Amino acid sequence: LHSRLPHVGTTIFSTMSALAQAHGAVNLGQGFPDFDCDPQLVDAVHEAMRRGHNQYPPMPGVPALRQAVAAKLQAMHGRSYDADREITITAGATQAIFTALLAIVHPGDDVIVLEPCYDSYGPNIELAGGRVVRVPLKAESYRPDFERIAAAITPRTRALIINTPHNPSATVWSAAEMQTLADLLAPTDVLLISDEVYEHMVFDGAAHQSVARFPGLAERSFIVSSFGKTYHVTGWKVGYVAAPAALSVEFRKVHQFNVFTVNTPAQHGLAAYMANPAPYLGLGDFYQRKRDLFRAGLEGTAFRLLPSEGSYFQCVDFSAYRERSGQRSDAAFCEWLTREVGVAAIPLSAFYAQGCEAPVIRFCFAKRDETLKQALDKLQSL
Ligand code: PMP
Ligand code: GLN
Repeated sequence: LHSRLPHVGTTIFSTMSALAQAHGAVNLGQGFPDFDCDPQLVDAVHEAMRRGHNQYPPMPGVPALRQAVAAKLQAMHGRSYDADREITITAGATQAIFTALLAIVHPGDDVIVLEPCYDSYGPNIELAGGRVVRVPLKAESYRPDFERIAAAITPRTRALIINTPHNPSATVWSAAEMQTLADLLAPTDVLLISDEVYEHMVFDGAAHQSVARFPGLAERSFIVSSFGKTYHVTGWKVGYVAAPAALSVEFRKVHQFNVFTVNTPAQHGLAAYMANPAPYLGLGDFYQRKRDLFRAGLEGTAFRLLPSEGSYFQCVDFSAYRERSGQRSDAAFCEWLTREVGVAAIPLSAFYAQGCEAPVIRFCFAKRDETLKQALDKLQSL
């Protein structure tokens, strides 16, 4: 078969979860909670099923859920999105990003990604016929390098994908950085896909700087988020896209032919559950506690901790263990850590097209405190 993606294998997340399972390791690799969601959310979905919400919903999503998303964006970021025309419910953030790319990328267009980046972006751009232009984030800090972004923009640039809070580095863009991006894009026609799936996981009193807060960005943006992250239901695969009407029209043309609609009872359940903002407003504190517990435990190891400003990830430099493990590369070190120490992590090289030299791995702390303590016991004995 003549592969469309000859350079692509199985994702690192599936690979590391399988390895963790095979070795009975504590799985801090793939990003998903090992605790259950709020039973009230499950009840709300049951209730929707019992009330007969079991057939196709409207193509763009259940109106009550679109209205709840619009109300949340208005309350949190002060921008008004029309629930009828500008919000679309998707099968998770992955489909949202892919659909947005399919809707806007013409063969030969450039799409800029900031590396390291989530692993679906590159293959999605290629499948849409685009050319992936990889601009590195700054070494060590993983912050945006606006000079390099500016230098990468040409008349062929169709879009830029950004992601804050960031997977894998756990950085959170400041308002000043967002404004710099707005100024940089102002004289261009470049569209923006803003991956905001970790929008409610921001720590230390900082605020998530959604593109919705910056009119010059919002007018050219697809904002993407995921209920899987926000409500601890990654397996439900429900997310949304907020975009100005003209962009949403194009988005929906593709959406209607690649998924058409998204799980009806989950949408009704989520709409009812969203009436109470407390669960998402409290998510930052909830994960900050876990971050602090995990970081405090790692202080007793030779891992060098990188900052974790948001998301549910903690990156560490493992170079102090290179000699003891006999492993140089991050991928080999992660395998060794899973097999020999019993803790799975993700190598940062998985977020680069050509790998990376930096000795950095990513742990996910969206786990029960007992799970984190179990992992820390093992890591402290290293
Ligand atoms: N973007 C980022 C940055 C992510 O970390 C994830 C989840 N791994 C996704 C998109 C995909 O989200 P979903 O599961 O809703 O498709
Ligand atoms: N987004 C999650 C992560 O970064 C996993 C998603 C997946 O398994 N594809 O770990």
